[in-house]
Amino acid sequence: MERVIIIGSGPAGLTAAVYAARANLKPLVLAGGLYGGQLMLTTEVENYPGFPEGIMGPDLMIRFREQAERFGARIENVDVTSVDLNAKPMVVRTPDDEFHAKTVIVATGASARWLDIPGEERLRGRGVSTCATCDGAFFREKHIVVVGGGDSAMEEALFLTRFGRRVTVIHRRDSLRASKIMADRARSHEKIDFIWNTVVEEAIGDGQLKALRLHNIVDGSRYDFDADALFIAIGHTPNTDVFKGQLDLDEAGYIESPDGVTTNIEGVFVAGDVNDIRYKQAVTAAGAGCRAAMDAEKYLEALEFRVAVEQVP
Ligand code: NAP
Repeated sequence: MERVIIIGSGPAGLTAAVYAARANLKPLVLAGGLYGGQLMLTTEVENYPGFPEGIMGPDLMIRFREQAERFGARIENVDVTSVDLNAKPMVVRTPDDEFHAKTVIVATGASARWLDIPGEERLRGRGVSTCATCDGAFFREKHIVVVGGGDSAMEEALFLTRFGRRVTVIHRRDSLRASKIMADRARSHEKIDFIWNTVVEEAIGDGQLKALRLHNIVDGSRYDFDADALFIAIGHTPNTDVFKGQLDLDEAGYIESPDGVTTNIEGVFVAGDVNDIRYKQAVTAAGAGCRAAMDAEKYLEALEFRVAVEQVP
């Protein structure tokens, strides 16, 4: 029987692991086949406090992991295949094992959506990115393209005007999905221009992004468009499939929580991007992981005290 199982191993999950381990709870972290979360897909991280020279995303996650392990967290690189969170104890299954736990911290994150076009994967971190806050500063005085028509795309485009000499938003329709205030801000910005009714079909470049193959879906034309950076802002998909039907999810699939920590099931806590449609930063996820572990510890204390009292003859 585990006292705490943490599902997920990005900044939220591994910070929860550090706190739970230091509280002597010996947490079991089911880290996923590819541990470390989205930072494993990032190059240099310049906005995580404590690293004035910056640090590579994967190196940062290795440090998180080592810190958790130093205090006794057990980390297994396996995917969770199903859960029964209404059982007492709760059940968490992986392909080869079944674990039982008094508390579960869900920190499975949200994955940025990609376009799934040729060249995209090869040029990730080499001009192609899904995070302007993370990578925008690498493109000073460059021509930056943002794909998407929602609030995230407008926010990313506006943020990127701080760096780029020009920011082009490419949207697949002729009107934006973004809120009026965000759309107005972007439309009126002198550095931002728009290409409408157009999809990106290919990211082109050897070693570094050089151009995009565009397709105007109204007139059917196809052409190459020079670009130094491509920021894809077409939304995120929270990783919540295994919790469907048990944890309350919002329309977009994010786990609902009244306070950013607790869920509709007692003893199940949430941390990080899986519950965060707004900030999605490593540092905010780490903070959420800390809160979840501290609340899990308090919950366990009360639970174990109750059980001990009930056993007194
Ligand atoms: P979103 O509102 O779902 O917008 C996604 C955008 O990407 C849409 O314009 C969509 O086009 C486009 N898109 C989706 N798949 C695409 C594809 N394969 N190829 C090309 N374009 C594609 O997502 P979001 O902008 O991330 O926002 C998510 C939520 O967070 C929203 O509720 C938003 O209001 C909120 N948010 C708020 C703020 C803020 O208030 N500051 C900032 C960020 C996010 P279509 O329009 O054609 O569907």
